[in-house]
Amino acid sequence: MKTLYAAVLAGGISACALSTAMAQAPAAESPAYKLYRATTTKINDLVHTKLDVRFDYKKRYMYGKEWVTLKPHMYPTDSLRLDAKGMDLKTIAIVKNGKTTPLTFTYDSLTVAIKLDKTYTSAESYTIYIDYTAKPNELKVKGSAAINDAKGLYFVNPDGTEKDKPTQIWTQGETEASSAWFPTIDKPNQKTTEEISMTVPKQYVTLSNGRLALQKINKDGTRTDTWKQELPHSPYLFMMAVGDFKIYKDKWRNKEVSYYLEPKYAPYAKDIFGFTPEVMEFYSKTLGVDYPWYKYSQIVVRDYVSGAMENTSATLHGVYVQGTKRELADRYYDAGRSTIVHELFHQWFGDYVTAESWSNLTVNESFADFSETIWAEYKYGKDAGDAHSLEAMQNYLNQPSAKTKDLVRFHYNDKEDVFDVVTYQKGGRILLMLRNYLGNAAFYKGLNIYLKTNAFKNGEAQQLRLAMEEASGRDLSWFFNQWYYGAGHPVLNISYKWDEATKTQTVYLQQTQDGNGFTLPMAIDIYAGGKKTRHQVWMREKTDTLTFLVPSKPDLVNVDGDKILLTKKTDSKTLDEFAFQYFNAPLFLDRYEAIDFAKTRQTEKAAQKIIIAALQDKYYGLRIKAIAAANLTSYDDVRNAAVPVLVKLAQTDDNNLVRAAAITALGKLKASGNMSLFKQALTSQSYAIQGAAMNAIGMISPTEAVALAKTYQNDSEGALKQAVLGVYATNGTDAEWPYYYDAFKNGDPNAQFQMIRKTAEYAGRVKSPEYAQQAITTIGELGVKYKQFGVAPTVIQLLTSIKDARTKMGDTASATAADKAIEPLK
Ligand SMILES: [Zn+2]
Repeated sequence: MKTLYAAVLAGGISACALSTAMAQAPAAESPAYKLYRATTTKINDLVHTKLDVRFDYKKRYMYGKEWVTLKPHMYPTDSLRLDAKGMDLKTIAIVKNGKTTPLTFTYDSLTVAIKLDKTYTSAESYTIYIDYTAKPNELKVKGSAAINDAKGLYFVNPDGTEKDKPTQIWTQGETEASSAWFPTIDKPNQKTTEEISMTVPKQYVTLSNGRLALQKINKDGTRTDTWKQELPHSPYLFMMAVGDFKIYKDKWRNKEVSYYLEPKYAPYAKDIFGFTPEVMEFYSKTLGVDYPWYKYSQIVVRDYVSGAMENTSATLHGVYVQGTKRELADRYYDAGRSTIVHELFHQWFGDYVTAESWSNLTVNESFADFSETIWAEYKYGKDAGDAHSLEAMQNYLNQPSAKTKDLVRFHYNDKEDVFDVVTYQKGGRILLMLRNYLGNAAFYKGLNIYLKTNAFKNGEAQQLRLAMEEASGRDLSWFFNQWYYGAGHPVLNISYKWDEATKTQTVYLQQTQDGNGFTLPMAIDIYAGGKKTRHQVWMREKTDTLTFLVPSKPDLVNVDGDKILLTKKTDSKTLDEFAFQYFNAPLFLDRYEAIDFAKTRQTEKAAQKIIIAALQDKYYGLRIKAIAAANLTSYDDVRNAAVPVLVKLAQTDDNNLVRAAAITALGKLKASGNMSLFKQALTSQSYAIQGAAMNAIGMISPTEAVALAKTYQNDSEGALKQAVLGVYATNGTDAEWPYYYDAFKNGDPNAQFQMIRKTAEYAGRVKSPEYAQQAITTIGELGVKYKQFGVAPTVIQLLTSIKDARTKMGDTASATAADKAIEPLK
């Protein structure tokens, strides 16, 4: 699964995760925290699950018939407990020789305890028939961080009353919500084959796991589709989707690959998902295990509650992944593409071998996170992989509470809490460290052993350790104990001393975090006399002093030469050393660190040299970083050297985002000499470039920008749309208000909060009291809706500013409306 965090960043409004903030960080002292979260005991094992379902759109019900085959795991038993959330259970019976005999059961709305007709041994399987109604919208179960509620089965616009929204049905099983739509043992350490027959209105298409075995037209205008998943998988990976989707059929080797999209996005199916077969080939080859399932489908649905979900052979995505050709051209390796590869890697790590408990979620999610980096390396080069990895590490390091949590999490408040930056981002970096330590051949051999040994079964971190030990011949308990069964990370101070008399270079390493030290194997590269010498060292204590005899004073001592450690470090290099590092050390992070340091020293020549050179770095992300770092307004030397380079980047860089960044930087100079460059850029096919150009024009000539915005507003998306709205917000009149207000009112919450301040200014300026009051109403409603996230004080302040402005204009009606809107926020 991939979680999307929605950050609300609006001036004074503090960042918060709207979709996820419902799940508060658990208090460590909460009683739930003290429980040891054991893997669920297996009394009965699922063997086969056969479902026959149809939907009541009006009531939001699903009518189900289930034939579930099980057998005792080890010990004989005469009873069975199934998870079944909030259902009407009409009949539960044993099926023998085609005859059903009712069984007695007790049901508490979450689980059903069934008394079997006799005691069964592990050599005997039995089949239970259940006639039931699932009522997902009447369900009361606890929400989660990854999924803002856990209904299992979702009806989108079931009455067709919502304008511009299709009618859809889709499911979301992880973590334990599949049992809201079919009775099962809803635990990841169960595996079952599956057969689902869905009866749906015949204009809709369906998607589920496995292969579409049969389609039958019924006399009542419905159609029944039967899907068969003939290889076993866990109940949380079951899926169904029903709706008006166009299917694009692609191929990997001899297997079907397909993309399900709303008709509007169908023309872009190949642009959005077309690289999927290439990723399947890369992962199959890398792992030495071919993609294991019958087919691979991806579907995009409305109102999805998380980012995306790796249902076996049928991944489900939220709408964020969609885009037109033009939108996609600006995205590079963004959340959409990295999520596509993330979910695909889960088809091995998660679906083929499944975490045996949520405590061991790392063997699903750390791998999926890791897969994002290796795809970036393969497809876009090592710099892109390192950039992706750095961003993930920063996500982890920026969450202070994360350092108290073990990767394998035997203690948690709620299973949903394990879906966090430790399991994803930190775990992904740990795997990269392990790959670096063992070498690619041993590491991927280890993954191959892990997958083959545990195929169609479950794994925990110990199975991974054993596989890696088998592949490499090395003991890895020390590594797993500190990184998997421990918490935190090293906080590393690095300092240096050169002694000319003895030609000795000393490196002082100090781990300053609380608690134990980490054992860290690392490379130290010494650059001296025009050559680089690598020393492989181990830091085994919290404080270590290393000495090296070097013929001449080194130009650079580069600790962690592979830039692989998961650490927060303070490195006391000089500016000259960073300059040497930028121009001579090979990695993305070597250059990144140098730019970071240079940014703070722009009066010095060596820093200017780094920044100007980095404007033309070979990796686009560093070009953008350098553009943002260059201080053109304070330092003449930087500006004089940078401007010609920026002009060239703005016009000819092969990366749209670099061109946009260069235009943005030039725009801030407000130099009318650049106007023709900006106008030329406005004709680009890239929304990012157009948006930057529109903003730049707005800085020089606001009235011209408003006029231009009008000619582009109906063909604007993404950055261009933001720029058009920005130009209107700053300089628009009543004429532009309806377009602006429509975008504000119908934007997603993040967009609304990004626009809220400017909207208040605009509302204080328009002539029409009606328009002002539209803004007042919408801003007030937003304040009420998100009051729980602490937005009220800022919203009150904005409404007060509108009130003051309207009062000055003599618009007492709007001033009164503002007072009214403020009232519920107090
Ligand atoms: Zn995932």
